[in-house]
Amino acid sequence: MSDHYQTLGVDRSASQDEIKRAYRKLAREMHPDVNPDPKVQDRFKEVTAAYEVLSDPEKRSSYDRGGDGFSGFGGGGFGGFSDIMDAFFGGGGTPRGPRPRMRQGQDALIRATIELQEACFGTTREIGVETAIICEKCGGDGCAAGSSPKTCDICKGRGEIQQVTRSFIGQVMTSRPCGTCQGYGTVIPQPCGECAGDGRVRARRNVTVKIPAGVETGNRMQLAGQGEVGPGGGPAGDLYVEIIVSEHDYLVREGDDLHLSVRVPMTGAVLGTTIEVETLDGEVELEIKSGTQSGTVIPIRGKGMTRLRGGGRGELFAHVEVVIPNKLSKEEESVMRKFAELRGDEKESSQLRKNSEGGFFGKFKEAFRG
Ligand SMILES: [Zn+2]
Ligand SMILES: [Zn+2]
Repeated sequence: MSDHYQTLGVDRSASQDEIKRAYRKLAREMHPDVNPDPKVQDRFKEVTAAYEVLSDPEKRSSYDRGGDGFSGFGGGGFGGFSDIMDAFFGGGGTPRGPRPRMRQGQDALIRATIELQEACFGTTREIGVETAIICEKCGGDGCAAGSSPKTCDICKGRGEIQQVTRSFIGQVMTSRPCGTCQGYGTVIPQPCGECAGDGRVRARRNVTVKIPAGVETGNRMQLAGQGEVGPGGGPAGDLYVEIIVSEHDYLVREGDDLHLSVRVPMTGAVLGTTIEVETLDGEVELEIKSGTQSGTVIPIRGKGMTRLRGGGRGELFAHVEVVIPNKLSKEEESVMRKFAELRGDEKESSQLRKNSEGGFFGKFKEAFRG
């Protein structure tokens, strides 16, 4: 058995750096791509084996004590050129080798438009999705019936082509993906006629989506594994359904609350009345107290939107708009004049007041406090 120190041409006291430098120099001279002579290659194997032992402090000290230095090495030998280059340049980087044909599919996004009523109470939708599904004909492997992928002849299954080029530090190995197999390491000699070797086809299918009560525009629901099937029949990504709630004819949403305008005839506002209000739950009766002003906000408890989290319902706020008649008959006019006379309204000056109590916002807050 040759002496590892002699093989590398270094002293027994050589530092790790000296050993590395010595090996580097020899490897440049003896690399098979540079010097294919079998004798040189045998020596290169020795040099590499020596380096493998001496570059590892543990193996080196075992070797120094008289062992072979290969304890724990498993006898697998020192393999390919890339291993050597890793030893050189500290390994790291991305693992080499062919890339897998089967890969994870992408997520998909679709939009579903629903009515406010459906958003409040929840609904179920069948939605047509145009997506990549696994190719039934080949089951995803992309091969025509009875055929299978073959190891690429050009890169011998490595998925990459290696080249030694000259650079300022000497011979440097570079690699690039194999153009013949696109880096897969295998080629499909007879691609499936249905998917042309991709393992998936585009298809339209229907997805049943259960939309929970309380959703609003912009909410996204995630349907795991319902997205695009990956290349080579890889696992599907997720499907996201984005909700769009269409505008209601007269209900305006504000978070979990709803607002609507109700028109009350002047006489009803003055004398008090009951009106019918259309809500998401159907018609409800709303009491208008006598003396109700325009802009008054009346809360209707629990008739707002369902809360997406925590359940329960928001409120519905009825904003009162008192309707003043703009065309009066002779008789109506005379009654109104009589009324004004009784009230003494003709003498009262119209005085501007600070908007401290009335106004939309003040009344709104009042209503909120209940
Ligand atoms: Zn196919
Ligand atoms: Zn190849």
